[in-house]
Amino acid sequence: MSAWHYFNPVNISFGAGEISKIGTLIKNRRYLLVTHPDAPMLPWIEQVKAAAGAPLAVINEIEPNPSLAMLERVCGKLDQANIVPEVIVALGGGSVIDSAKFLAAGHGQYQIVYDYLQSGSEITQTSLPIIAVPTTSGTGSDLTKWATIWDLEADRKLSLNRPDLYAEAIIIDPVITQSLPWSVTLASGLDALSHALESIWNINANPVTRNFAIAAARDILKALPRLQLDLNDTEARSQMAMGATNAGLAFSNTQTALAHNISYPITLHYKLAHGIACSFCLPEVMRTAIGVSADCDQAIAAIFGDLQKAPQTLRAFLNSLGAPARPEEIGIGKREWQNIVQAAFTGQRGQNFIGTIDKFPF
Ligand SMILES: [Zn+2]
Repeated sequence: MSAWHYFNPVNISFGAGEISKIGTLIKNRRYLLVTHPDAPMLPWIEQVKAAAGAPLAVINEIEPNPSLAMLERVCGKLDQANIVPEVIVALGGGSVIDSAKFLAAGHGQYQIVYDYLQSGSEITQTSLPIIAVPTTSGTGSDLTKWATIWDLEADRKLSLNRPDLYAEAIIIDPVITQSLPWSVTLASGLDALSHALESIWNINANPVTRNFAIAAARDILKALPRLQLDLNDTEARSQMAMGATNAGLAFSNTQTALAHNISYPITLHYKLAHGIACSFCLPEVMRTAIGVSADCDQAIAAIFGDLQKAPQTLRAFLNSLGAPARPEEIGIGKREWQNIVQAAFTGQRGQNFIGTIDKFPF
């Protein structure tokens, strides 16, 4: 076995009702609460306040796929009100947690993080600590040290990636996900499945990440069909949260791979939810990966049974959930699809992928 290394410093609390213990994690520090404007968030905001006292401020204007323009607005408000938190509490999905990382890296100052993203100029100060309470089961941002930020004016995706952006602590309370509609449950669940699989067909995979990924995929494959039938299935919500956590622990050490690089232009130009954009082509990406590495093949077989039939099994699973199957269904023409896939292979995440383009079934 070749040498390997695994690291994840996040303090994890998991379980129904765990959000009520957030006060013991905040420990009387002055905190900024970053969240979504959606009504279902309100009771959880109240829970945080009840457990930890009032925040310095609530930033509740975080939009999906956080953009530089939105973050500049938020930082302007913090600056104007002279708000200087000791810790940032992120209550929301991946967009909220990614936005919290941007605010943590710059202590609420926009320009230094902007300069870092645009020109790589160093940020010298240590990031503010983050306590994350994910409200969806899927994005995994609570377990990674990076954030996806969109520069909509320049039509590109930026990656904020710093070793001190791991959350100090996270609370995964599956009860919070109970109120999610099917569309969000599906998109975030398929994002988690993508994280698990992308960490397997990955040059950075190791025995620990593979174990996390196999456990994650098995849980997600069981939980999503149950939630499709009954969104209030508490056991399935818990299983889905567990799957997303294991997927996060897997890809926090490998990063993602080809399917994610395929997804970015699709999210940008077709406004497709991230979890759908990175999962619809998983069977084709899997077909390209099979036969390249014995470790990868074994992991895929451990999840899907028969290795050769695994791409078909996965396609049938995605179909049963009503997820799109072909690029045409999203509105992507044949030529454009080839261009997207070709570019994805050469992109940063694409280079994590173990397969080669000559095997990709267009
Ligand atoms: Zn993802």
